[in-house]
Amino acid sequence: SISLLWLRRDLRLSDHAALIAAVAEGPVIPVYILDDDTPKHRRMGGASRWWLHHSLAALDTALRGKGSRLILRRGVAATVLAELAAQTGATRVHCIRHYEPWWRNAERAVAQTLDLVCHDGNYLEPPGSITTGAGQPYKIYTPFWRALSDQMPPPPPAPAPDTIPAPAHWPASDTLAHWQLLPTKPDWAPGFAQEWAPGEAGAQERLADFLPHAGGYDTGRNLPSDELTSRLSPHLHFGEISPATVWHGILAAKGDATVYLKEIAWRDYAQNVIQQYPDYGRANGRPSLDTLAWRSGPEADADLAAWQQGRTGYPIVDAGMRQLWTSGWLHNRVRMITASFLIKHLLIDWRRGEQWFWDCLVDADYGSNTVNWQWVAGTGIDANMFSRIMAPLTQSVKFDAAGYIREWVPELAGLSDETIHDPDAFGRRPRDYPAKIIGHREGRERALAALQRTR
Ligand code: FAD
Repeated sequence: SISLLWLRRDLRLSDHAALIAAVAEGPVIPVYILDDDTPKHRRMGGASRWWLHHSLAALDTALRGKGSRLILRRGVAATVLAELAAQTGATRVHCIRHYEPWWRNAERAVAQTLDLVCHDGNYLEPPGSITTGAGQPYKIYTPFWRALSDQMPPPPPAPAPDTIPAPAHWPASDTLAHWQLLPTKPDWAPGFAQEWAPGEAGAQERLADFLPHAGGYDTGRNLPSDELTSRLSPHLHFGEISPATVWHGILAAKGDATVYLKEIAWRDYAQNVIQQYPDYGRANGRPSLDTLAWRSGPEADADLAAWQQGRTGYPIVDAGMRQLWTSGWLHNRVRMITASFLIKHLLIDWRRGEQWFWDCLVDADYGSNTVNWQWVAGTGIDANMFSRIMAPLTQSVKFDAAGYIREWVPELAGLSDETIHDPDAFGRRPRDYPAKIIGHREGRERALAALQRTR
């Protein structure tokens, strides 16, 4: 019998349990539905839409190589799937289970009218399934990691099917160009194409390129200048490669890969959190901080804009924010520094920063973004505290960011390794580079005073 394969953030053909199950039952109609209604304000941001366009084009090409194709439809997923099932005589829908609250609602809605089979495979273990002795899902990362690693390794990844049986008649499909996912006026994404190759082949290539360097990861992963991390995050987010594939690849290449695998496990942990706290993008995990008086009004708005545009006068922060805008991605250490700067030094609500990342990141992920923002803010369910304030200038020196700053802040390219982290302190600030938006000590004291007032 014919089945629909409902694709979302699982845009691959290998290690895809839903595809394998559908192929075993007969002809398959792979469908991607551009649904801006179901996620409401969580519709995909601009950078994600750029990625999606290219990833869908790559997936269609790969499917055609297997005798199949990708059907594109736009609308509310549950409605579109019901229409498609009626048009094609499909009796069943296969999908990979997703954990964003809107997708969980959509899965429930689809299951009310259609025979929906949800499979696992986008995470090392299904989020929520790793539990304490008392049967509760974990709230803190470290015990979560211990329990997860007891279940590892994951099963070896399954290969893509050789062919995918096609239906006698294909239903109509939208064309990708009509969805206008790519930016036009202005095209802010020319830098994206230089950095990224969306799609399953691009993901495999990225992994293959990383493996020979994986040995340097443990010591180099915190140094933004060195490009020693895998940059697999958007590929993993869009499901172009499964975490099991990455896990086995790293293990084979590196032997002891614990440091890297612990990072991959953060991705699972983040889903485990939103599975328990679906509203994590809005609600503080620590309600005692609900009364914290974030700055608002025109001055705060101007500061937010300076942060977004990389004009804070803190070279490491500005380098990060410009890299984010230009390439849709940011090094983890610099994500922490820039986020902490917005939240603590500028005392601007973490939700406004999270929103900006949501729009700008090619790996924008509801779980990973909200969990990390709440972690940096100290508002989360984990152990991190608001009072832990990162010192951006010290971090910049400690993590040897001179080369990184030179790359992204051309106004400062002429400065020495010593002066570039804090040109003001050496009287070396070029005229076209802004003065510090706020002093480090002043920002720190203002943040701590705001915390004090919540008590
Ligand atoms: P690597 O160091 O090579 O790590 C391998 C993989 O592990 C990554 O691709 C990613 O899938 C996963 N990973 C690593 N660190 C984390 C982490 N802290 N949390 C969750 N997963 C992790 N990551 C996202 O994928 N999407 C986001 O929207 C996102 N928002 C973030 C916001 C803030 C404020 C911070 C501090 C971190 C955020 N991260 C997010 C986590 C992390 O910064 C990125 O996953 C990482 O920088 C991606 O680069 P990489 O692939 O080279 O990572």
